[in-house]
Amino acid sequence: MGVKVLKFGGSSVADGIQLTKIKNIIDADPDRRYIVVSAPGKRFDGDNKITDLLYMCRAQMQHNIPYEQLFQVITDRYSAVKYNLGIDVDLDRYYDEIRANLDNKCSEDYIASRGEYLSAILVAAYLGYDFVDTKGLILFDKRGRLLADETNEALKAELAKHERAVLPGFYGSDKETGEIRVLSRGGSDVTGSLVARAVNADIYENWTDVSGLLMADPRIVKDPEPIQTISYIELRELSYMGASVLHEDAVFPVRLANIPINIRNTNEPDDPGTIITTEHAPEGKKVLSGIAGNKDFTVIAMYKNMLNKEIGYVRRVLTILEDFDISFEHIPTGIDTVSVVISNEQLDGKLDDVLEALDRQMKPDDMSVHEDISLIAVVGLGMSRRPGTSAKICTALADEGINIRMLNQGSSEINIIIGVDTADFENAIRAIYNAFAEK
Ligand code: ASP
Repeated sequence: MGVKVLKFGGSSVADGIQLTKIKNIIDADPDRRYIVVSAPGKRFDGDNKITDLLYMCRAQMQHNIPYEQLFQVITDRYSAVKYNLGIDVDLDRYYDEIRANLDNKCSEDYIASRGEYLSAILVAAYLGYDFVDTKGLILFDKRGRLLADETNEALKAELAKHERAVLPGFYGSDKETGEIRVLSRGGSDVTGSLVARAVNADIYENWTDVSGLLMADPRIVKDPEPIQTISYIELRELSYMGASVLHEDAVFPVRLANIPINIRNTNEPDDPGTIITTEHAPEGKKVLSGIAGNKDFTVIAMYKNMLNKEIGYVRRVLTILEDFDISFEHIPTGIDTVSVVISNEQLDGKLDDVLEALDRQMKPDDMSVHEDISLIAVVGLGMSRRPGTSAKICTALADEGINIRMLNQGSSEINIIIGVDTADFENAIRAIYNAFAEK
């Protein structure tokens, strides 16, 4: 028998109708043995995610505002699913346990984790699978950092005892104190990946509400093509630039164990979705795998005569950024120029002080600041060692009258980063997509 690990996101466990869909998916393949679930998410626009409501409960409790009404909204969601589907489970005792802990001023992580906890108990009872708590299995050190290898050992040992199990996503516990610790938001993706590694799964199926990744943002490009397969490194480049479908940390555990990830759509279970693997680009693979971009960057450009002869100039520029605790994205350099590209989030409230420090310490002959710069990543394993890709991008942009503010090719040759004025952002993405689209 094979082993598949499935993770269902918040929208896939949002209500009874969604749970019947996931049961059909699981029943369709006996290899689907380990299931990780999120807390119920939004059922419609304007609805609330259970995790957000739980954080609110804790905030109310801390400010001595009665939380009971809010807590009732949460328990009603689970109870409705239980009654609609006729699931035989005593939820009241879990509600009482959580209430008692809230009254005892439980930690924020504890309360945030209860969405996944209740979700997994309910889904396990519905499927007739074992419930396996991730407390004591997904382990953190005292600074809240995941202990990947110890987690792997603990999960492996426990899951060997269960042929089929449902596990809550998003949390684990402190290895020393046993206190609940959560991963960052969206962390159930990471739990699924850790479980897949521990049971050495054939595949990690990540079930969500979209049929995988698209080659470009559909809000910018009309009907972009779906991505059928993509490698982990390409995905990393795209996610870094804002294409979000998976938690960033979810890739590492399965990548280590060479397990492919399949992004699937709970609402369209026949769609094949996107497969993410370590495979290298097969011959004849498309040049372009995807395009993603991000607005809100600032470029600080410095000019200094004979800069190239001065040893340590760029290092000192970077030290100044380091002193301000700023991480930069790119540093394009010329003979007498150096520019740093920094996200506005990093610069928030610090720009004037940074400029003052650069001016005082680096004494540039000229310094200018360009705000409203956007970066676009054009990503594809098929680009590597294929001449003409940059030319094609530049021509496409020139034809649209778009000025390129920066162009940077990563040494792996699988991505080209283009900086444009934010006003040109959408047009630039469309122009590049159309240049590569297979007509
Ligand atoms: N429920 C958590 C969140 O909303 C974790 C998850 O869904 O992956 O972030």
